Amino acid sequence: MMDHRMPTDIILRYRILQRDRVSFIPGWDCHGLPIELKALQGGEAPVKGKNGSQTISDAAAKPKMPPLEIRAAARKWADDAVAKQMASMREWGAMAEYQNHYRTMHLRYELNQLDVFKKMVKKGLIYRQFKPVYWSPSSKTALAEAELEYNEDHKSKAVYVKFPVTQLGDLEGVDGINKDALSALIWTTTPWTLPSNQAVAFNPEMDYTVVNTPSHGQLLVAEARLEALLPLLPEGTTTTSTSIPGTTLLRSAYTHPLLSSKPPSPFLSGDHVTSDSGTGLVHTAPGHGMEDYLACRSRGIETFSPVDDEGKFTSEALDGQLTGMSVQYEGNKAVVEMLKSKDVLLHESTYKHKYPYDWRTKQPIILRATAQWFADLTGIKNDSLNALDSVQMIPEVGRSRLTAFVKSRAEWCISRQRAWGVPIPVLYNVETDEALLTDTNIDHVVSILKEKGMDAWWSETDDEVFVAPEYRKEGQKWRRGYETMDVWFDSGTSWGVVEDQVGKRDGKPVADLYLEGSDQHRGWFQSSLLTHIAASDATTPVAPFSTVLTHGFVLDQKNRKMSKSIGNVVDPNVIIKGGTDKNKEPRLGVDVLRLWVASSEFTKDISIGKEILGHVTEGVRKIRTTARFLLGNLNDWDGKEVAYDELTSIDKFALLRLSKIEKEIRENYEQFAFNKATHSLLSYTNADLSAFYFDVVKDRLYADAPNSLSRRSVQTVLYHILRVYLAALSPLIPTFAEEVWANAGNIINPDSNSIFQVGWCETRKEWDVASLAKDYEMLADVRTSVGLAVEKARKNKHIRTALQAEVELVVENGSQAETFLKKYADELSCLFITSGANITTELKHAEGWEEKETLNILGNQVLAVVRQASREKCVRCWVYSAESEGGICKRCNSVVR
Ligand SMILES: [Zn+2]
Repeated sequence: MMDHRMPTDIILRYRILQRDRVSFIPGWDCHGLPIELKALQGGEAPVKGKNGSQTISDAAAKPKMPPLEIRAAARKWADDAVAKQMASMREWGAMAEYQNHYRTMHLRYELNQLDVFKKMVKKGLIYRQFKPVYWSPSSKTALAEAELEYNEDHKSKAVYVKFPVTQLGDLEGVDGINKDALSALIWTTTPWTLPSNQAVAFNPEMDYTVVNTPSHGQLLVAEARLEALLPLLPEGTTTTSTSIPGTTLLRSAYTHPLLSSKPPSPFLSGDHVTSDSGTGLVHTAPGHGMEDYLACRSRGIETFSPVDDEGKFTSEALDGQLTGMSVQYEGNKAVVEMLKSKDVLLHESTYKHKYPYDWRTKQPIILRATAQWFADLTGIKNDSLNALDSVQMIPEVGRSRLTAFVKSRAEWCISRQRAWGVPIPVLYNVETDEALLTDTNIDHVVSILKEKGMDAWWSETDDEVFVAPEYRKEGQKWRRGYETMDVWFDSGTSWGVVEDQVGKRDGKPVADLYLEGSDQHRGWFQSSLLTHIAASDATTPVAPFSTVLTHGFVLDQKNRKMSKSIGNVVDPNVIIKGGTDKNKEPRLGVDVLRLWVASSEFTKDISIGKEILGHVTEGVRKIRTTARFLLGNLNDWDGKEVAYDELTSIDKFALLRLSKIEKEIRENYEQFAFNKATHSLLSYTNADLSAFYFDVVKDRLYADAPNSLSRRSVQTVLYHILRVYLAALSPLIPTFAEEVWANAGNIINPDSNSIFQVGWCETRKEWDVASLAKDYEMLADVRTSVGLAVEKARKNKHIRTALQAEVELVVENGSQAETFLKKYADELSCLFITSGANITTELKHAEGWEEKETLNILGNQVLAVVRQASREKCVRCWVYSAESEGGICKRCNSVVR
């Protein structure tokens, strides 16, 4: 609600006013973990699929539900959520092609997605690998980097452990080595990975040494780490002068400290070993670390990962001593206890560091080797980065974020172990586990799914159905893979269905604009770019968008993030309709909600609270009053404009201001600066209209003859103001603008039912007179000085209103100021709203009170004198211009006659 959709609506409505053909096809992400977990829990429908963050803790504990049941329940949840959101979008006036909307669970969407996937398969960009991936035990699925967030204060148990060196190799004969008591000392912050240890890595460029301890024998450590380590070692530890080049360790081997039955494991050289921390010897578990995996792979060492989907040890860990224990919790503790009982633990401590968490469950993840499907990004990285060069980013800071995410990724883990998604259309050979994933076979799979629906992937009983005839062989059996695609792959391919609907655009990206939260650089923006580049056949592939605009998030008045636990969540529905207690939470209406969003600098985090809403409510009230004034005074207008040359200077000045403000607001809209557009509109409403023009023309409107030139001149100006004003505010508060239009249509354009049909209103060139602007700057100074003098008179209780006064402006004879003021002599009293204004060269002697102000114009001094109006109050127009008390003035006399 207060997300990307409101700014989107403002942009679209503005473009419509600018006569653009606008296509906005709303779409909903329906797959993915949050909805699947809701379906499993049977809980409340999630508000948002894409970047909602539900807390899910016990979902993993639920009994297993068959995939088809999960899918049916999830689909229902998604349908309900979409229906609710669509209703609320309509409620706050969002324009969209609702009937053409897409859901990522629509079959046509899914088939399009499989087509993109097929193109990537054909290009050789999709591969399968058994390697460590980010694994979330709390979600029971693999995660991509884009789904991680880092906790700076994660606490780990750090341990120093000795690994008994049982095959000395080239260490044999090195001075000072005691071959029966030598151990390699390692340090780790993940004791639970020790059961998976396959090697110890050293740096071939570093030198090592041994220390003698009273209780733990002889320990091998890097020389560079010695100083840092000594305080942790037992009292009585002594150093030696032995210096051992790292490469000496190449032929040595050690025995696993917790599993002496395991054959000795090797020392490996590894450039990733540094002297920054630890001991300079690195415990290597290729099943649980990327660097470890790479170091072991090149030497043919097996990737061992005895951990299951729930993050629990399998029976393979330490010959079954840890089976079923959670590696992050009791399993980790058990390993530390075992280290103690085997007397191989030298030191333990709590270590605070940055650690990746699952961004949905907010639980720590682990690295775990599993067979997963990956998209190779190395081959498309340059094209992606080049494509970004021609994309406009608002705010510009988004460019470096998006670029950094694209640069840092070599591959994208796209398989998920979940049921609610688009299946990876792969079959495995039952005997060899070899994967069948070719474009030909995907075509075959798609032909079946197209006919029977996506659920067929789960409901078909015979796996062979999905094997294309050319791959079927006598005696060969296949099984389906039940993994689904990363939801970012889903949402990333939305350009496909949109292109199908709006058609290809020559030389232009599919979409002019992608608008989402600033958290989507690593999410949707990136996955859209990557899938589009990957599926493209062009020699110079382009991004699917011309402009990427991001919004911030809504904060409360104290700039805190909204959270249920703080209790500061503002429900947009409560703003619109009011809360249960209408005194505390009054009904503010959709205009207030929209104007609040518009008035915020939405590209940053924005705040909301009672005070802010109060200001916005006042703004909406002023706009309504203004519109009412315009409509009321145009009611009897015949629609015949008075020619520009016949207007008074005040009228001309009003048109000049209108043309300035129109350009200003238009520019702000063009730059997506809705807060500035709103600010300009409100300040125009208050300063130009309410406090100036409306005020000075009231007398002409109410007292001059209805068909007089003077009154029709004002109406001509009011008409132009109404037209521009409505266009300017209609993207912000369309419902109200249309309501005014319904009442003004006969004045402005009797043939049209909507402001959006007639479009924006550009002002006329002839209105933009620079000299008039300068003159009115000076007249504003005179008006201010007169106003101050009137204010003094009011304070001194001489008068109650300015109409009771008249003004004398005393200037030097023949001065520039005199010439200037005389040019506007006829309009001065109107400008001051006093019952008279004279220009003199000598101060008149008069009876009664006087209030004076001096000012300077054009280098000349001007004395403004305010005194009691000399005539009587006209009972009709209230101007002090009648000859006798209780009578009416000349002007009124002619009007009445
Ligand atoms: Zn009068």
